[in-house]
Amino acid sequence: MGDPTMERQRDLFAVAIYDCAVIAGIVSEGLVLTGPELLLIADDLKGYIKMSKKSVMPYKCIACAHEYAADGDNEDCPECNCYGTIKDKS
Ligand SMILES: [Zn+2]
Repeated sequence: MGDPTMERQRDLFAVAIYDCAVIAGIVSEGLVLTGPELLLIADDLKGYIKMSKKSVMPYKCIACAHEYAADGDNEDCPECNCYGTIKDKS
């Protein structure tokens, strides 16, 4: 563990994750975090990015023709729980 290059890289890595987490609003600025905490934050970031990447599309139910907004993970019709399809832009 005495390799100064490795330690420097590890510190830069930690700061990079931390900076992302601050921007995402997961942690507040000025905290000193340990390795395990940074790993948890990286996991939170993953969820955060996944969430923000979800694009909400206009859907239309194939059964009851109800129109609603949904993302690709939860596209069932809120009216009848039937399967919906992305509505044509026409
Ligand atoms: Zn429906």
